[in-house]
Amino acid sequence: MALFPFVITKLPRTALSQKYRTHEKIHFRQQLELLLIGFYLIYILEFLMRYLTLKDWDAAYQNMSFEREAFANETNLKYLKNRKCYAQWRYAGRD
Ligand SMILES: [Zn+2]
Repeated sequence: MALFPFVITKLPRTALSQKYRTHEKIHFRQQLELLLIGFYLIYILEFLMRYLTLKDWDAAYQNMSFEREAFANETNLKYLKNRKCYAQWRYAGRD
């Protein structure tokens, strides 16, 4: 879990995979673009909206725009170099 500037995990830092690190770095970028508080507010609101629609905790999490962007690009090591600002919104309406 990324809570800028920290990553909270049960694993030691050396055990974190590159995929996990990239995923969390994408969240850091999202958080900075939305000035942290905006990220957390939208993240919670989007999760609640998805949960009310899908009635499933995991499905709601997996379908959030922030998570869709991070999951879709976590194996692309060059993604953050070419990522456009607010790219998470491109994932907002996809199924
Ligand atoms: Zn995530």
